[in-house]
Amino acid sequence: MSFIKFHADQLFDGYRFRKQDEVLITDENGKVYGIIPLSEAGEDIKKVEGILCPGFVNAHCHLELSFLKGVIPTHTGLVGFVSQLMQHRNAATEIIEQAIVDAEAEMIANGIVAVGDICNTPHTIAQKQKGRIKYQNFIEVAGFVPGAAESRFNTIKEIANQFYNHFPNNTSIVPHAPYSVSLQLLDKIKEHSHNKIFSIHNQETAQENIFFKEKIGEFLSLYNNLGVDLSFFNNKYNSSVDYYIDRIAKEMNALFVHNTFTAKEDIDSIVKQISNPYFCLCPAANLYIENSLPDINLFRSVNSGNNIVVGTDSLASNHSLSILEELSIIQEHHPTIELAELLKWATINGARALTLDKSLGSFEINKQPGIIQIINKKYLGNNLVNSTIEVFL
Ligand SMILES: [Zn+2]
Repeated sequence: MSFIKFHADQLFDGYRFRKQDEVLITDENGKVYGIIPLSEAGEDIKKVEGILCPGFVNAHCHLELSFLKGVIPTHTGLVGFVSQLMQHRNAATEIIEQAIVDAEAEMIANGIVAVGDICNTPHTIAQKQKGRIKYQNFIEVAGFVPGAAESRFNTIKEIANQFYNHFPNNTSIVPHAPYSVSLQLLDKIKEHSHNKIFSIHNQETAQENIFFKEKIGEFLSLYNNLGVDLSFFNNKYNSSVDYYIDRIAKEMNALFVHNTFTAKEDIDSIVKQISNPYFCLCPAANLYIENSLPDINLFRSVNSGNNIVVGTDSLASNHSLSILEELSIIQEHHPTIELAELLKWATINGARALTLDKSLGSFEINKQPGIIQIINKKYLGNNLVNSTIEVFL
């Protein structure tokens, strides 16, 4: 077996920066053999400028929506965004499929090795079968009217079965968002969950909490405009989390995505109810749609920040699919957060959330997590803005 020896300016192992004199040893496929002192590493050492880091995990994406890049204007607010998405969802299959191929290539070039991907259709299956990126497929169902739960669930099961056929261990049925799923539909999802991974778009807009608290606002207007009779809906909740949290299986890894308008009380009830909650930050999409960001420090105080992960959301609500870009946005708004903490969210935390940490997320022996180099030629130190990525293995 031939080894590759990497000696970087900074070696980040998925958890922390290692000592300057440590060398990462892998086989020719990037399988980790160990991290050893430079003095023991012998000859033929590859010198790496900048930071050497395990491949990134994109915990939330909608690969199938890639064809909508640039279609929906920025700052519409979520309800405006959802309305536009409904109008633009259909396109020729070739256009949808080509955009999927291109978007996946973009993620690979940006050092992404695993993706938590929301699917409403089977469009991504063919590309995913090529195995270039590891996917957890979240087959998403919606339907706020209780009477529709049965038929909505049966329809989504047919799509989910196509994914189960190809990716039996990496597929689960998940709800879209609190405002778009009935409690009856949530119960069906729970019955069917078999302790697979759960995901939900959570509190992406202030309108969501207003709707559940007071039954007023933009979601009420949206449903009225769509001709949906909401007489069944009783607004007795303190927030949207209060509406759905006791309907989720407790033992699963559960991803709460966006959390832009999540309060400390919501986090407390999530943590109380769910054994393994993960809070997924998608800052670029939040700025694109609502032009606001979550209170990141609230999530850093849960389990020392070990439950924070990072996602790009889709190209319908983002200019690129780059975890580095997401991290640099967070860094711009929170310059005091240590770089190691940010990189941890995007590597080992993401791998744990998607239950892919046996092989991904860190430079631990026998893992094959992907090897990327982060270089910033403009600034010295730990500034990620204007950094670039090289993918080694
Ligand atoms: Zn999303």
